Amino acid sequence: MHASHVSIEAIETILVDVPTIRPHRLSVATMNCQTLVLVRVRCADGIVGVGEGTTIGGLAYGEESPESIKVNIDTYFAPLLKGMDATRPGAAMSKLRELFQGNRFAKCAVETALFDAQAQRMNVPLSELFGGRVRDSVDVAWTLASGDTKRDIEEAEEMLEKKRHRVFKLKIGSRALAADVAHVIAIKHALGDRCEVRVDVNQAWSECDTVWAAKRLADAGVGLIEQPIDATNYAGLKRLTELALVPIMADEALHGPADAFALASARAANVFAVKIAQSGGLTGAASVAAIARAANIDLYGGTMLEGAIGTVASAQLFSTFDELKWGTELFGPLLLTDEILTEPLRYEDFALHLPQGPGLGVTLDWERIGRLRRDTKRGATVAMN
Ligand SMILES: [Mg+2]
Repeated sequence: MHASHVSIEAIETILVDVPTIRPHRLSVATMNCQTLVLVRVRCADGIVGVGEGTTIGGLAYGEESPESIKVNIDTYFAPLLKGMDATRPGAAMSKLRELFQGNRFAKCAVETALFDAQAQRMNVPLSELFGGRVRDSVDVAWTLASGDTKRDIEEAEEMLEKKRHRVFKLKIGSRALAADVAHVIAIKHALGDRCEVRVDVNQAWSECDTVWAAKRLADAGVGLIEQPIDATNYAGLKRLTELALVPIMADEALHGPADAFALASARAANVFAVKIAQSGGLTGAASVAAIARAANIDLYGGTMLEGAIGTVASAQLFSTFDELKWGTELFGPLLLTDEILTEPLRYEDFALHLPQGPGLGVTLDWERIGRLRRDTKRGATVAMN
């Protein structure tokens, strides 16, 4: 034990169910509520770090659920971490990764809390532990996912008017191919050159579907196709990338540095969606970004529709990327009906502006969270299609 050892005293996990402002329709699920898993790490010096592990549509998107994140942290991570040195988050996470397989979202939540605490201890923003900021704001795209063409156009117009977003990502893949493509083209046609339109298919198409659609989407001026085909189909992603009709982004195919290296080696994407949770935490996401940069693959800052904590943690890391050509989609808190911070994150001029304070730089409203937490009210549900 070194001289400045500060013990980790307690790790608490809380499930918080927050309704969404409208149904969020994805090819894998329709969400009316988002469950945030908040993690609180208390240290012997009185510092408390917070983190978040949040999935999309319960188990619809990946192999971890809010409930599994909570139970695995409570049962396995917490007893191991208790008594370990809070001033060495890298060492704590290394031990955790050595002993426990998978559980990337749970690891991300705990790692975020440990780094938040350490950055507070050092009195610097969390970004300074990852090389330091190169920007104080990140551009934020909005997702149009109501499923209704007219409603999506109105929503986009409103966002442009408010100068909140000028890049729109359309969630498609749940309808017939031609109907989806017609939906996208109608929206792009209505909005014109005032904004950029991209699509996220969430693996719903075949390679042939994608070739058919890409020609039409390219002609309509659509800027990017995100994860059109199965995440494991690297050869297909490579062929679609080589086809060069519309840039291809890897998202679900990217579960951390090993996948990043395999995708980069195969030249199977033009852009990587970097996500802290999918990467197993901030350090994993930083490695994914480094691999992309070395391979001349562009960066995009992705979201798991996290609430404020996961969102600001992501922004802290993305602010350190020297290149962020495709911006971010860090709009998670804007999709939720309830604010869990005492002072909301600042979205202005098409961007999220990072807080300047130490650690994550935000303060949680524990009274509000107390009202939303699952163990004090009747539980939430995720509507599945
Ligand atoms: Mg995606």
